[in-house]
Amino acid sequence: MAKPTGFLEYPRQDAPKRPVAERIQDFKAVEQPLPEAALETQAARCMDCGIPFCHMMGCPLKNLIPEWNDLVYRRQWREALELLHGTNNFPEITGRICPAPCEAACTLGANDKPVTIRQIELALVERGWAEGWITPKPAAAVSGKRVAIVGSGPAGLAAAQQLARAGHRVRVYETDDRIGGVLRYGIPDFKLEKGVLDRRIRQMEQEGVAFETRVRIGEDIATPYLRRAYDAVLFTGGARVPRDMQAPGRELAGVHFAMEFLTQQNRLVAGDVIAADALISAKGRRVLVIGGGDTGADCVGTSVRQGAAGILQVEILPRPPEKRDPATPWPLWPNMLRTSSSHEEGGERRWSVQTREFLGKNGRLCGVRAVEVEWKKDGKGRFMPTEKAGSEFEIPCDLALLAMGFTKEGNAALLNRFGIETTPACDPVLDANGMTNLPGFFVAGDLSKGASLVVRAIQDGRTAAANVNRWLAEKK
Ligand SMILES: Cc1cc2nc3c(=O)[nH]c(=O)nc-3n(C[C@H](O)[C@H](O)[C@H](O)COP(=O)(O)OP(=O)(O)OC[C@H]3O[C@@H](n4cnc5c(N)ncnc54)[C@H](O)[C@@H]3O)c2cc1C
Ligand code: SF4
Repeated sequence: MAKPTGFLEYPRQDAPKRPVAERIQDFKAVEQPLPEAALETQAARCMDCGIPFCHMMGCPLKNLIPEWNDLVYRRQWREALELLHGTNNFPEITGRICPAPCEAACTLGANDKPVTIRQIELALVERGWAEGWITPKPAAAVSGKRVAIVGSGPAGLAAAQQLARAGHRVRVYETDDRIGGVLRYGIPDFKLEKGVLDRRIRQMEQEGVAFETRVRIGEDIATPYLRRAYDAVLFTGGARVPRDMQAPGRELAGVHFAMEFLTQQNRLVAGDVIAADALISAKGRRVLVIGGGDTGADCVGTSVRQGAAGILQVEILPRPPEKRDPATPWPLWPNMLRTSSSHEEGGERRWSVQTREFLGKNGRLCGVRAVEVEWKKDGKGRFMPTEKAGSEFEIPCDLALLAMGFTKEGNAALLNRFGIETTPACDPVLDANGMTNLPGFFVAGDLSKGASLVVRAIQDGRTAAANVNRWLAEKK
């Protein structure tokens, strides 16, 4: 145990953020690191619980959190980093953007503030890079087996690294022009600067992973070719079909999916040029973000930085409680109001709002007709929205961004195109070893489980890699 009385002596310290007025001028990281001495003190708050809920219930990767907290407290950073890398390929990414279910499950959180697990994770890995402790780890022996990975998001990257280190020849195919999936195109640079991703990709190349961009599997390369050319194939194509809104006026200029908008901004930060007639810009516009989740919050932060005239984010669900909902007690992931760094920067939020119609003038969006809803239980005990009589109102806006999640039907359609069977719930049919109906074909990440979190994609990629490895070992 780090320090038996640490949790009584030291309060939680959060990472500082750059002042709002400064950070909205650029797309650089919002969060700043805590000094190492402060993190050693924070690690001392860990109680090394008999049942470490952080590790068992919180972290999908089963990170050995109490163990590395203890090592950080004892200033054995390098040993702590080894433990961390044993379960997580990319702590520099989860350390920046994970919502930290480990912290929500931390025992200290039952009646105090949880240990700052995410900050300790980030500091560990960044010190590792700075000290030169993180080097390529090529396999000691090669298997002669070839593996194709389709998609280069966190699931594909984690699987590729695991399989290359196991000695297989791995090639990652990616439709986009750059590697990274949503880490590259989607998540704003102010949450994840892309140099962080490039640094890890370089390490993977030195470990023997080959990357090929601008290749769409199923079009440029057919799956029968993959079957002939590779011993195993892992699909990690992500959840890429956004939920649409079939409301009148949807076709108006100025109504876009959030991902189109966010991706363009990633490209601009990367130095790409976007033609003026294709540019989706919030500059001087009244922006309406439809969808109250993280993607919507990313649209808010991006619109602020682009110079929007005003921003409103609406959500159909009711406003969550300020504190943990009693229906989600510790150590469950709490239903409660979340205010991201983007919400601190500007815009307003409204809940229990349903969009009815997009209003236009000369083919361009000029507003949205909406209505308030009430959430009531139906005959089967399910909460359902009903429109509040007389609550209709108009929202003037000239840019509407749809951030309402991604459909599993879209995943199933892609899988079926590859010949992979799916269940009525749109999940891939997998055997006990995680293999699809096509021998040697596996699937992982958001494409397999539906849109989720980076940490879950890494975990699923690692599990799939273990399944592929077992299959290759058994294959004649
Ligand atoms: C805007 C946004 C913000 C988010 N923010 C966070 C966050 O802050 N924290 C967090 O934990 N999670 C966040 N998430 C969720 C997280 O990014 C995803 O859960 C995660 O990226 C899924 O990883 P993946 O590898 O399964 O798929 P993806 O990251 O979607 O990658 C799939 C890749 O496969 C490629 N591909 C698809 N089809 C083909 C094909 N036929 N041939 C070749 N390549 C193909 C795609 O181009 C893509 O690059 C966010 C998601 C979005 C959309
Ligand atoms: S639950 Fe919290 S206090 Fe307990 S071992 Fe995990 S990090 Fe430490």
